[in-house]
Order: sequence, then C-alpha cells, then structure tokens
Amino acid sequence: MSNNTHGAEGQGCSRRLIVLEQREGVLKSTSVDLWHRMQMQCKGSGLSAVLLGPVDKENPSLQLSGPGVIHHACDERLRRYDPRLYRRIIGELFEEGGFSELLFADTALSRDLAPALSVRLGASLLSRCSALPEAGRCHRRLYSGAAEGTFVASSPRAIVTVSPSSILLQPATVFLPDILPLAVPAAAHDDLPSIVRQVVRREGMVDVAEAGVVVAGGRGMGSAEGFALLEELASLFGGAVGASRTVVDEGWRPHGEQIGQTGKSIAPRLYIACGISGAVQHLSGISGAGTVVAINRDSHAPIFEVADFGLVGDVGEVLPEFVAALKEFLKMQ
Ligand SMILES: Cc1cc2nc3c(=O)[nH]c(=O)nc-3n(C[C@H](O)[C@H](O)[C@H](O)COP(=O)(O)OP(=O)(O)OC[C@H]3O[C@@H](n4cnc5c(N)ncnc54)[C@H](O)[C@@H]3O)c2cc1C
Repeated sequence: MSNNTHGAEGQGCSRRLIVLEQREGVLKSTSVDLWHRMQMQCKGSGLSAVLLGPVDKENPSLQLSGPGVIHHACDERLRRYDPRLYRRIIGELFEEGGFSELLFADTALSRDLAPALSVRLGASLLSRCSALPEAGRCHRRLYSGAAEGTFVASSPRAIVTVSPSSILLQPATVFLPDILPLAVPAAAHDDLPSIVRQVVRREGMVDVAEAGVVVAGGRGMGSAEGFALLEELASLFGGAVGASRTVVDEGWRPHGEQIGQTGKSIAPRLYIACGISGAVQHLSGISGAGTVVAINRDSHAPIFEVADFGLVGDVGEVLPEFVAALKEFLKMQ
C-alpha cells in the first residue's frame, strides 16, 4: 500500500470507512468493538462508517462514542443481509467518498461480502487480521496460530477484516458521531433476490460470536442431550453455547455455533471448553478469548496448554456441581 494513504495518522483515518453491522435491528458488538478500537488508534480524528438497515434507537449499543460520521441507510429492505444491495451501496459510498480502506469486523457477513467488494473495487483483501492494520500492514495468525504473518496490500485500495477482541474499549470522550441518512438506490433489474433460504436462530439465543461468555462442548459431552447442561450454564452467565466441529458434524448442534477455523472466531471475556480436546483448528477460533477454562478428563489434552484454569474430570460429574454452585452463588448476589 502506498504511504500517502497512511502518512499522517489523521489523514489515513479520514480515508478509512468502517462497515457497522446490525442483526435484527441490533448493532453487533463486534462492530461496536471495531469502532472504538479505531477511535483509540485515530486519536480523535473523525471516523467514517456505514450502517445498513434499521436499528432500534433505544438500544444502548447504538451509543458509539467518539467523533465521526455514520452513513445510515435506514431502509427495511436492508434489515436482512442482501449481498447484491449491500455490495452496491457500500461500493458506491466507498468510491464516491474517495476512501482507500474499508474495514469490517470478521463475521459471517464480512466473509461473504469483503471478497466480493474486493473484486468490485479492485482492492487488496487482508482478511482475519489479528489487530487493526497500521501503515497498511496487517498481522494474521497462520497455521491455526502456530505462526504469524505480515501482509501488505498490493493495491492502493484495501479491504480489511479484523478479528474481534475480548478487551472492551470505550474511549473517554464527550463526542458522539453524526448520523447522516444514506439513500438506497431503487432496485435495478439485476437486483433479483439472491437469498433462496434463510435460517434464523431461535429467539433469545445469544450469537456465539457476540457473547461475553461462551460455554462450548465437544465430543466429550457424549450426545446432543448432554448439551442441556451447557445451555443451563450458558443461560446463568447470560452467554452462548458453542461447539467443536465434531459436535456439529454429529448433528448435535447447529453449524452457527461452531467455533474454529471453519466456524466462527470468538472473543468472549470468558470461554469454558467442556470435553473439547483443543485441536489447532478449534484453537484458531478462540485466540481472541479472554479467560479460558477447560474441563477434560484427559490431563494431557492440548486444551490445557492454552487454558488459564483447568479442571481434570468427567463433565458428567463436574458440570452438575458447577451449575449448582453457580446458582447458589447467584442467589447470594
Ligand atoms: C480443515 C479442517 C478444519 C477444521 N475446522 C474445525 C473447526 O472450525 N472447529 C473445530 O472445533 N474443529 C475443526 N476441525 C476438527 C479438529 O481437527 C478436531 O477434529 C475437532 O476440533 C475435535 O473435536 P472435539 O475436541 O470435540 O473432539 P475430540 O478430539 O474427540 O476430543 C474430545 C475430548 O473430550 C474429552 N472427553 C471425552 N469424554 C469426556 C468426559 N466424559 N468428560 C470430560 N472430557 C471428556 C477427551 O479427553 C477429548 O479430549 C477441523 C479439521 C480440519 C482438518
């Protein structure tokens, strides 16, 4: 990437456009995290962001702090992800605004949209960066975390997806961003609906990529029924249930809960792995997690190498006691 896009930090920041995501009218915490991390890096120089779809104004997560402008297309057609419309609106805004860098949080949506936009805009794609890019460089963990590589965009334009962080940042500032309405183009003939099937997660369930606490299960849970205990534990924490790929392949849990290389990258403050061996492909999805707790009956399981707290034992014995103790503790609060 040429230096002129990233010379003075302020100038570089003004040429960056952040894509904020909403789901079902709620701003995603990964987007809030990205916005606030950018605020810290750009030290008060105004940011630009784009948000597609209506957002519940009462929701506190809309309270993004720090100076900047949010181009908001508050149109019902954009409530659900529409690849063609999203690609067109973001692409046009990027070109008209003279931006040079488009930033996404690494999510299921960005994994679909970022490559398509990279083709449309002729921009280099730097995906799954472990931190915000600096001076056009992005660091990414490789081979499931065994190595780290530095990637430099080869084109003057770049599209960057950034892995979430478990550290919640809220810059101390009195500024709030301005919201600018963004017009949605009338559907063109080629804007035929491209979604043939949509699977909506059960109401009330927290998305594993958004949750502050994730309780995940592996083959060691024994069966789909074994996950009832994990659901109970997750709900006591107000968190989400996650799963290893084995569990998903067995059909015990939906793919939306899979964590790892071919699943979701997560960054909860607390991650509890139950009956999960800790294969590298699984660990690559939890590198952003804060505190890691592992419960496994094999004291040599690789998961213990990354765990902050480890409990060697059978999940069938440990988990009921854990749930009972947590309930007791919560009663006293
Ligand atoms: C290209 C590729 C991509 C992949 N992507 C992913 C991915 O995204 N996510 C992912 O998770 N995997 C992924 N995998 C699969 C990965 O390699 C492992 O096979 C998988 O993570 C293992 O799942 P597991 O830990 O649930 O099962 P296992 O490896 O079978 O481990 C089960 C663990 O449970 C413990 N256990 C058994 N019974 C009990 C009990 N009663 N109490 C306590 N502990 C018990 C065992 O000691 C063991 O450690 C991928 C593999 C490949 C090749």
